[in-house]
Amino acid sequence: MRYISTRGKAPILSFSDVLLTGLAVDGGLYLPETWPEFSPSEWKSLRGLSYPELAARVMVPFTAPDIDFETLHKICTKAYSCFDHPAIAPLTQIDTDLFVQELFHGPTLAFKDIALQVLAPLFDYVLTQRNDYATIVGATSGDTGSAAIEACRKSKRLSVVILHPKGRTSEVQRRQMTTVIEPNITNLAVEGTFDDCQDLVKALFADIPFRQDMHLSAVNSINWTRIAAQIPYYVQAALTLGAPDREVSFAVPTGNFGNILAAWAARRMGLPIQHLCIGSNRNDILSRFINANDMTIQNVIPSLSPSMDIQVSSNFERLLCELLDRDVVACADIMTHFRTSGHMKVPHTLWENATALFSALALEDEQTQTEIRDLYQRSSYLADPHSVIGIVAGRRFQQKAIPMVAEATAHPAKFPEAIIAATGVHPPLPPHMADLFHRQERYHVVPACEDSIKDAVHTAVQHQKHHH
Ligand SMILES: *Cc1c(COP(=O)(O)O)cnc(C)c1O
Repeated sequence: MRYISTRGKAPILSFSDVLLTGLAVDGGLYLPETWPEFSPSEWKSLRGLSYPELAARVMVPFTAPDIDFETLHKICTKAYSCFDHPAIAPLTQIDTDLFVQELFHGPTLAFKDIALQVLAPLFDYVLTQRNDYATIVGATSGDTGSAAIEACRKSKRLSVVILHPKGRTSEVQRRQMTTVIEPNITNLAVEGTFDDCQDLVKALFADIPFRQDMHLSAVNSINWTRIAAQIPYYVQAALTLGAPDREVSFAVPTGNFGNILAAWAARRMGLPIQHLCIGSNRNDILSRFINANDMTIQNVIPSLSPSMDIQVSSNFERLLCELLDRDVVACADIMTHFRTSGHMKVPHTLWENATALFSALALEDEQTQTEIRDLYQRSSYLADPHSVIGIVAGRRFQQKAIPMVAEATAHPAKFPEAIIAATGVHPPLPPHMADLFHRQERYHVVPACEDSIKDAVHTAVQHQKHHH
C-alpha cells in the first residue's frame, strides 16, 4: 500500500515510511492511496480466528508489501500475549442489544495499548532492517503517553520523549509514565494544556531540519498505523454479533477522533456498520459540529475524562478529506482557515453527509457521575468516566434490532476518584500495577515553549547515541 497526504503536497510514501514519518511534511495526515475492501465471504472467513490472527489479516493490506502476513502475525501474537484477557477485546452485554467492548485489557489499562503494543515492534522491525534509530516525540493527555512508554521501554532503537500537561492527568496516568525510568524514556511535564503540548509537538515536526537531525517519529493517532491497528476490534465485534449478515452500530468516547476513525475505516472496507456515535465531555467541539455545523475552537476545560479534553481533533482531517472526495486542495484550504480563524467552514452538503452517518452527544461531569452510578445500579457494570460517555451515546442513538457496541476505553481503576464518588466502590488496580503508588518517579517540568522542548529532545538523543 502507498500513502497520500490529506493536503496533497507531501511525497507519496510506502507503509514503512509512513510508519516512521507520522505527520506529512505539508502538515497533512497520511491516508492509504486506496481502501482495501473485503467481500462478505472474506469477512466470513475471519470468523472464529484468534484476535492476533484476525488483526494480522485485517491489517496486512495496509502493511504489504513491506511487511507480509507471516511477520505481522508473529508481531501481533507477541504483542497481545501481555493482555490479561484471551479475547483481547471482549464483549459484555449490558442491556437488550447493547454491548460494551472492553479495550482496556492491556498493560496500561487503556485502549491505546491495542495499537501501541503492535506499533513499537513494527518500528523495531523496520529500523532494524535499515540499521537506524528513531526518536518518538508525543503529546499526551494521559493515556497515549503511558501506552507509548510501556510499548517502547524495551526497544533498543527507539528513544521516547513524552509531553504531558502538568497537573492535568490523573495520578495513575502520570505515574504510569513517570515511574518508567529506563534510559530511553524522557517525561516532560509541560506548563500548559494538552492542546499546547500537541501544538509544541507539531512545531517540532514542522521544523524539517530539526526533525531530520533528530530522526523524529510520532506514535500519537496522527500516525496511520495507530488507526490501522484499531480496525480489527471493530471487525471482531461486528463478526461476533452477526456481520456481515447483520448490521452493527458503534459508540465511541472521542477525543482526537482516532478511535472512531478506525470504525469509519472498517466501514469503508465493507464492514456493515450502520451508525457511528460520538461521545464527548464538556469539550464538545465534535458534538457542536455534528449537531449544529459549528466547529469553533474554545478553551479546553479539564473534565473527569482527561483523555478527551481536546478541542482540535487531529484525525478529523482524515474524515474531512474523505468527505471532500479527497479534494486535497480544498482540504488544505479548510484546515489552514481553521487553524488561523479557529472556525471550520465546510460545505453544507458535506455536513449533511457527515450527520447521516454520525451522531454525537456531550456530557457534563455531573451527568457523567450520575450515569456511572445508574449504570452500576442497573447492570452491575462499572464504567470509567470515558467509557460511560460512549455507553450513554450508544443508548441514546440505538435503533431497534441493530446491536449497538459501546467502546470501553479505560479500566475503571485508572480513574478511581470518579468511580468512588459515583458508586462508593473502590476499583482495585490489577496485580501487575498494585505497587504503582510506591514506585519512584522521574520527570522534568518545562515551560510551554518550543526551545525548551527542543533542548530536551536533543539531550534525549545524545543520551541514546551514548547508550547505543
Ligand atoms: C485516547 C482516549 C480516548 C480518545 O480516543 P481518540 O482516539 O483520541 O478519540 C478516549 N478514552 C480514553 C480512555 C483514551 O485513552
